Amino acid sequence: MSSHSARISSTLKGAYEDVLRRNPGEHEFHQSVDEVLGSLGPVVERHPHYVDERVIERLCEPERQIIFRVPWTDDSGKVQINRGFRVEYSSALGPYKGGLRFHPSVLLGTVKFLGFEQIFKNALTGLPIGGGKGGSDFDPKGRSDAEVMRFCQSFMTELYRHLGEYTDVPAGDIGVGGREIGYLFGQYKRITNRYEAGVLTGKGLTWGGSQARTEATGYGTVYFANEMAKHVDRSLDGQRVVVSGSGNVAIYAIEKASEMGGTVVACSDSSGYVVDEAGIDVQLLRDIKEVRRGRIIEYAEARAGNVSFVERGSVWDVPCDVAMPCATQNELDEAAATTLIRNGVQIVAEGANMPSTQGAVRAFQQAGVLFGPGKAANAGGVATSSLEMQQNASRDSWSFERTDERLGEIMRNIHESVVTTAEDYDRPGDYVFGANAAGFTRVADAMLAMGVI
Ligand code: NDP
Repeated sequence: MSSHSARISSTLKGAYEDVLRRNPGEHEFHQSVDEVLGSLGPVVERHPHYVDERVIERLCEPERQIIFRVPWTDDSGKVQINRGFRVEYSSALGPYKGGLRFHPSVLLGTVKFLGFEQIFKNALTGLPIGGGKGGSDFDPKGRSDAEVMRFCQSFMTELYRHLGEYTDVPAGDIGVGGREIGYLFGQYKRITNRYEAGVLTGKGLTWGGSQARTEATGYGTVYFANEMAKHVDRSLDGQRVVVSGSGNVAIYAIEKASEMGGTVVACSDSSGYVVDEAGIDVQLLRDIKEVRRGRIIEYAEARAGNVSFVERGSVWDVPCDVAMPCATQNELDEAAATTLIRNGVQIVAEGANMPSTQGAVRAFQQAGVLFGPGKAANAGGVATSSLEMQQNASRDSWSFERTDERLGEIMRNIHESVVTTAEDYDRPGDYVFGANAAGFTRVADAMLAMGVI
């Protein structure tokens, strides 16, 4: 049995042991189930019918798991073979919704952990979206545009039969941005002979995309962190902020945190991190990362002497008041959390999915650091994807201001729902509990209303 399961109440232990037994070796998936089930003890104690109706066992089993071969030809004419995944986890609240990740580390267990998280995150938004996730072990890094296009076309040639605006609506995630969504949408349109804009989100603005979708996850994380700060009569203004990563989520978290008066002093990629005491120049970072697809060292080179680059190393060694992990899962462990706490961190808001290990979360909570878990803090991305679906369904397109305002309102509502749920169960300030309990209750009640599904 996993060493993680100490917090799971005796009523739910059996469900967790079943997950371990039936999904061997899928450690990230086990971790995400453990994290949710660890919160649900007081919920099932108050509502025993969730146990009687075996809602938790049902939720731990995806509705459908699709695994497929993705053959394609590289620029030298050599045949390459990757594996594609789509885990359609829960459609109780709406069509399956969640991103596609292209990264060499992607395994079935990675997609299942992300899909499981996505169910509760999507439920928290209050919008009509179920949970799903997908991806491939394809690595876009170092590939030409033509190679990425051929890969995406092959990927969609299999995946298209499982998608639809009322069935399953993918979006981007690590390694999947506007370029990849374009190639995927083009192939879907070609195969189906339908301009079904609502089948993918994160599209370009001239062909069905939503204003503010690119910015939404990063902006939303900062809006959430701001709500956390306000809740304890603080603000982000004047705070020292560290953001990990320098991809889509990180860039727009840096932009919004700076706009709100914070100074973002460090960010990273998988090769190392940079420290810029004057505050990260987000335009320069975007040019290096979004336009040129370069490495983070180029930021230090461009700033000529005023910025240090630390190869490898942990960005969490940089002292800050607010930490926003925006790169990948388990990037912030207990040792990093201890360093952050020693250096005076006050607020942690997760832009990435499960970036903090359970040891790190425990350390933050025990030290009284406000900790906002990804399924609440980064829900702005999927929420704005849902707004994109709404615009596609009504053949409308909203202004940036209107969409951003709606995003801000959704993040405030999520914060409110998380905080009040935690208080209702006498766990004030416990955002992990509040997010899990509120998300679970919404999806569980919908499932029960629909019978044995
Ligand atoms: P991107 O691919 O745009 O950026 C990922 C960033 O994280 C890059 O800087 C990358 O560095 C770094 N990174 C990735 N893997 C690792 C690793 N193993 N070790 C160290 N650094 C790594 O992805 P996104 O910004 O879209 O996603 C980041 C996180 O946010 C993920 O956890 C994702 O699931 C989550 N998320 C994304 C949403 C979205 O709308 N895009 C919505 C909600 C959550 P390098 O370039 O060197 O690989």
